Amino acid sequence: MPQDCLPKAVLYGQLKNRPRRRGRPKLRYSDKVKQGLKKFSIPADNWENPAHNRSVWRSRVKAGAVTAESHQRAQAEACRRARKQSALQSPSGEWTCSHCGKVCRSRIGIFSHTTAKHH
Ligand SMILES: [Zn+2]
Repeated sequence: MPQDCLPKAVLYGQLKNRPRRRGRPKLRYSDKVKQGLKKFSIPADNWENPAHNRSVWRSRVKAGAVTAESHQRAQAEACRRARKQSALQSPSGEWTCSHCGKVCRSRIGIFSHTTAKHH
């Protein structure tokens, strides 16, 4: 691909309309792409190579999206579990917050407490 063809020019051209802070390196579109790739856990170093091969690229993006999604799900699940464990019901029926020791009479009370205060 010649250096001056349009896709490459767009990809590596600096974002001219973007106001920048003094002393900061210019943010290029390819840097933005790399940030996005990081989220999808695709190695940013050689993302241009698979991008040339459409089917490989597509399967990689797809796999990355699945990974990111399941990661998000696992995190939500861990959060839910932590919330459940953060409140213990005493024999007298009261709920005690294991973070700060606050006692609530109802389950919903301790639920809203742990949700609002600790997460
Ligand atoms: Zn608490």
